[in-house]
Amino acid sequence: MVTRDRAICLRAVDYSETSQILTFFTRQHGKLGAIAKGSKRPKSGFGGPVERLARGEILFAPAQTGQLATLTEFQQIHDVTSSLSTDLNAYYAALLGTELLTKLSQEHEPRVELFDRFQAFLLSITQVVVRRESKQQLMGLLILFQLALLRDGGILPNFTGCVNCDLALSDGWRAVYFSSDANGLICQDCEMSFPQRTLLPSSVASTLSDLRQLPQVSYETVRLTEKLLISHFTDLLHQRPIMAKFLELEDG
Ligand SMILES: [Zn+2]
Repeated sequence: MVTRDRAICLRAVDYSETSQILTFFTRQHGKLGAIAKGSKRPKSGFGGPVERLARGEILFAPAQTGQLATLTEFQQIHDVTSSLSTDLNAYYAALLGTELLTKLSQEHEPRVELFDRFQAFLLSITQVVVRRESKQQLMGLLILFQLALLRDGGILPNFTGCVNCDLALSDGWRAVYFSSDANGLICQDCEMSFPQRTLLPSSVASTLSDLRQLPQVSYETVRLTEKLLISHFTDLLHQRPIMAKFLELEDG
């Protein structure tokens, strides 16, 4: 039975002279691996090869568990890549979000809300490019998507208080620490029990505890917040996200 779904292409790999193996994030069926036979022929039902970040409607024949579905049609709605081609920073931010989503999602696990978040993330990034707004806004959108990804997976760190003693974050904290292992903030009285902790600037902790502040904080705070999230994803994935090096998160 052929199935229709909305999808965004996460990865495209050449399979033969004329075919591709594609990984989609679909709205109703979660992550989906599919073979697109003949997709590289100019006159196929795919309108040419499917590119990473292409967004559209797919028709596919589902496969047995562990095998590739067969893609029979792809109708592109929006070519995200060409919208981003004039702004390298936006393109890198989109690819980093895509990489994290690919690594933190499973095949055949529908995550409708996360799909809508991802789609909105890509669209809002293309809007930033159109309006030529700042790198700060781009990084803010990336931060919000990364937190949505963690929240949707049920692994959002506790940014509102100490994970060890439940003390609520306040101006009274002399120092704020973060531990990936403990998945949240650590107060000054508990920090000695967490050897992997890192010291957080209070502005970063405050922003993460109340994201409404994000549009108002300095670029430095946004940069340090993204730096913390990349370090957290590195711990989660046991490897640094490949696209992180393009974000220019280091000083200077
Ligand atoms: Zn504590």
